[in-house]
Amino acid sequence: MTTEKVAAPISAWAVAQQQFDLAADMLNLDPGLRHVLREPRRELTVHFPVQMDDGSVKVYTGYRVQHNLSRGPAKGGIRYHQNVSLDEVKALAMWMTWKCAVVGIPYGGGKGGVIVDPKKLSMKELEHLSRRFFTEIEVLVGPERDIPAPDVNTTPQVMSWFMDTYSMHVGYTVPGVVTGKPISLGGSEGRNEATARGCVYTIAEAAKHLGMDLKGAKVAVQGFGNAGSIAAQLMCAEGSTVVAVSDSQGGIRNMAGLNIDGVIAWKKEHGTVRGYPGSKDISNAEVLETECDVLIPAALENQITAANAHKVKARIVAEAANGPTTPDADEILFNRGVFLIPDILANAGGVTVSYFEWVQDLNRDHWTEDDVNAKLKTIMVKAFGEVLMQATKEGVNMRTGAYLNAVQRVADATAMRGLYP
Ligand code: NAD
Repeated sequence: MTTEKVAAPISAWAVAQQQFDLAADMLNLDPGLRHVLREPRRELTVHFPVQMDDGSVKVYTGYRVQHNLSRGPAKGGIRYHQNVSLDEVKALAMWMTWKCAVVGIPYGGGKGGVIVDPKKLSMKELEHLSRRFFTEIEVLVGPERDIPAPDVNTTPQVMSWFMDTYSMHVGYTVPGVVTGKPISLGGSEGRNEATARGCVYTIAEAAKHLGMDLKGAKVAVQGFGNAGSIAAQLMCAEGSTVVAVSDSQGGIRNMAGLNIDGVIAWKKEHGTVRGYPGSKDISNAEVLETECDVLIPAALENQITAANAHKVKARIVAEAANGPTTPDADEILFNRGVFLIPDILANAGGVTVSYFEWVQDLNRDHWTEDDVNAKLKTIMVKAFGEVLMQATKEGVNMRTGAYLNAVQRVADATAMRGLYP
């Protein structure tokens, strides 16, 4: 029997701090500032009861973390997943700080999560859990303080319950307390598609830079939720061929191309993409290793690691998900000439249109979808250009380029505000 050594999976928080350290070293950041930016400002853990449909009471654990507030109120989604941990939420909050700074929107970073598999709850139980969790974190949230949004397994319906709960407590309607709401409650046109659309804008810029034609390019997408399924649709609209997709139950492949609208309808009916007629069922690992030009990880953290980075065939990897690539894998991909668009840039379209939604709510305004998409494109293209310029100038990968821009902006804001008291 052979005993093969398998590296322990690295935590998202360790990854986030490692990525920050690399930029802090290169920027020669003041040691005091470095300590401040290396840790979250606030971490709230709540344990709260929910009455289940059978009359029993279950206690759930959730978190809200604010990483840095120098550039504005905290902004970041809330995740419902059985594997949520404080470390994961801390990493996601820190990434939000850098993301908002990379695209130049006036927010700090925050994130939240509840340890729960929402698929096991009824709608009523989900509503009770959402309303009670939001009540528990109200010590931190508010339209001028901390504005949550959707993330994995949280939907416009969940955002509506959050908004209603807060509004009932203060006694008047406050649409600006969360983003990602339905249009009827002050949501923005284009918010649902924004993460994917922003990601596709950056892929188009990368393709231009590399001299690659997206028409006819082969695309693989890991994760088939809000970010992944819409990214797949938008890549088809660019003339690309989506050859493989996956969800938590596994993947499917058809090298001649999948009909994405058909796969979306199939998933709606069967709960998974698996078994889609005319495709071959494959594993999630095989999706990442598919022969393609563009790979879009759009699921969870820690998917491309030192163990599989050398098997990635794509020329462009666009991180619609947060934290899908470990630092070791980053280096392997960079050395192999893979052009990686990092999460804090590639998926920043979501928070950018969330910012638009918040501005519209505060102004009691409503913009057209064309207006939203045009403004989004301007911001994404500008940020991509700034990151590419920084990466080229320093001879580093796009992630480090993005971190250099972001950390410098946050460090400048933090330093200018000075140390209180
Ligand atoms: P979602 O809940 O809509 O979809 C998640 C998808 O990932 C589902 O299809 C699920 O089946 C799949 N999945 C889960 N585990 C998987 C696994 N091990 N392998 C393959 N697929 C798996 O969530 P979402 O909002 O699309 O978020 C996906 C990623 O995008 C997350 O990393 C999230 O933080 C990031 N993101 C989302 C937004 C947003 O606006 N929704 C913004 C920025 C970043």
